[in-house]
Amino acid sequence: MEQGVIARLTQRLTRRDFSCAELTEAYLQAVREENPVLNAYVRVTEDRAREAARCVDARLARGETLRPLEGIPLSLKDNFSTKGIETTCCSRILQGYTPVYDAAVWEALGQNGAVLLGKTNMDEFAMGSSCRTSCYGGARNPLDPSRSPGGSSGGAASAVAAGLCAYALGSDSGGSVRQPASFCGVVGLKPTYGAVSRYGLVAYASSLDQIGPVAACVEDAAAVFDAISGRDPRDSTCRGAAGPTLPGLRRSIRGRKIGWVREWFEGIPEGICAALERAAGTYRALGAELVELSLPELSYALPAYHILACAEAASNLGRYDGVRYGARARGASAREAVCRARSEGFGREVKRRILLGTYVLREGDAGQYYQKAQQARRALSAAFRRAFRQCGLLLAPSSPQTAFPMDAVPEDPAEGYQSDVCTAPASLAGLPAVSLPCGADENGLPIGLQLVAPLFEEALLLNAAWQFERAAGPSQAVRKGGNLLAV
Ligand code: GLN
Repeated sequence: MEQGVIARLTQRLTRRDFSCAELTEAYLQAVREENPVLNAYVRVTEDRAREAARCVDARLARGETLRPLEGIPLSLKDNFSTKGIETTCCSRILQGYTPVYDAAVWEALGQNGAVLLGKTNMDEFAMGSSCRTSCYGGARNPLDPSRSPGGSSGGAASAVAAGLCAYALGSDSGGSVRQPASFCGVVGLKPTYGAVSRYGLVAYASSLDQIGPVAACVEDAAAVFDAISGRDPRDSTCRGAAGPTLPGLRRSIRGRKIGWVREWFEGIPEGICAALERAAGTYRALGAELVELSLPELSYALPAYHILACAEAASNLGRYDGVRYGARARGASAREAVCRARSEGFGREVKRRILLGTYVLREGDAGQYYQKAQQARRALSAAFRRAFRQCGLLLAPSSPQTAFPMDAVPEDPAEGYQSDVCTAPASLAGLPAVSLPCGADENGLPIGLQLVAPLFEEALLLNAAWQFERAAGPSQAVRKGGNLLAV
């Protein structure tokens, strides 16, 4: 049966068809060739990658068995702490900052012999849906470099779709893994809030932030999720996954009930709705039952998300004063130095969100905005719980758009915030959600199908995603990853 890129690479490494050093060089070569256009990586860690590959080859030479994801080259978004490797969140304020510890997920993968190729481009501090706000200039979509790869994990999705790494880790607070995955025609999983440790992930909106894989196919995303999920006392919100997802991936979904929420499709362009209707047809053909539902609370999601995310960002970003981390500014007084560091270090979008967040938290205004948004969040979670009494999963679009041109900057920033309308609901409710390709628009650009499951039901979620992918055929990214070294 067709296998994912990770399983095939593992098999070839084990059979010694090629060494891990050769595999790593092949990826580094691809990065050298394509990154000047795609700008998917902001930092390539060649020497470390080669060193890690040598260790894997030495273990193989001793006849040892590969551990999960051992020897498989990956990339990390630039908001993961990496000991000894500059970590900037693509913000000028953090340039020159080198963490002294590793994020929990990277610590675990690195110890198991994963090969880090570099850090990927992103919207500054993960605020955005286009990758345009990066201080390094935006990443590009490999399917059409004049277009955005989405955001904020745009570099991650671009790298996976172009075959510049076997898989990538990104972060998703309101859609930042799922939307770029949908723009680049790859798979993006946002796990349940609390399934994966956020220790060492630079905080944007702490009650929403979650780490997730961007991968060429569902099986790869499942393998990565199984490897990175787990309890971690260093992140008090993290209790780990309910269990591994890979063993049940290929189960039949006959008789499964999948919800189609009417409001999720309001205002979505016809072409995207049509692709999703075809996806629903595929599910019916697989023996699932489609159930039509109404969730009026869905309309609260976008405003509630932006109020809460900005409020949390305003508090989290208070730590950047130009003294403790990264770039340092000078001034006649401490106050002036801090003012200058922030004025020069933060980009426009980050400043806008800090101001918005400070505004909604102001004494006297908090009841009107912050507490209302919290109420809306609770109402939305309750609505999802009700919906899940009628079905096991929900089917929705991943994004109201396909990849837009990089230079089509909306005049009103609020217009850009509309990009999150399909992904914010699952984020607010902490639910696991996955985006996978389900067709193309009139320009041949990929359309994303989003599946959402109850809390900690990643196994169910990925099982349904895998079944769809098998029925729909492998995506371009799988073929591209598969071409490497003629896997
Ligand atoms: N696009 C969303 C935003 O601009 C999501 C960001 C994220 O998930 N980090 O806030």
